[in-house]
Amino acid sequence: MDKIIAKIDDPEILSQLDKLVPFHGHPSTGAFIGLQMLNIARRLLNINDDDRVFVTCETLNCVPDPFQIIWGSTIGNKGLKIRDYDKIAVTVNKVAKTGETQVKGVRIFLDPTKTVNYPVLHDWYMNERKVPHEEAISELIKAGDDVYTWESVDVQVPVKAKKDVRICTSCGESFISNDGSTICKGCLEKL
Ligand SMILES: [Zn+2]
Repeated sequence: MDKIIAKIDDPEILSQLDKLVPFHGHPSTGAFIGLQMLNIARRLLNINDDDRVFVTCETLNCVPDPFQIIWGSTIGNKGLKIRDYDKIAVTVNKVAKTGETQVKGVRIFLDPTKTVNYPVLHDWYMNERKVPHEEAISELIKAGDDVYTWESVDVQVPVKAKKDVRICTSCGESFISNDGSTICKGCLEKL
């Protein structure tokens, strides 16, 4: 990790890494990609430190962590959603203004037609061989924004419905029924 840090001259990224590495548990290529995506989104959407930000991440692997620790967009506060397509892509938007049903966001993905110009990173991405995180992250630092593609997207603002809380007729515990079901999902799985 020290070798990676020595290659970074941006104090902002260094302070982000100070938070990210202990949170994630180790320096990881995927988490660093998430961090670069976060910084691209921040620039494109003009996001300030105190903005409430919503993130949809298309993989569970590594990429979600910088959004949780740097922006506080977590699973529990609904700032982070996972659509587990196993793709290295995220969609980011700022909180909608009252009454807005749709808000402009940006979808960013790690583009294989661009990573091909960075053979070590491309080998990691396509899993051609085992690439040490240190080597892949060094390539990412060199590449910067050059390996990402993004486009503006419309994000629907979810409508808040009143929670329909019921007592499960099978286990007797309370649960939120989303479809009028009288049996909780845990019990349904066991049926
Ligand atoms: Zn139950």
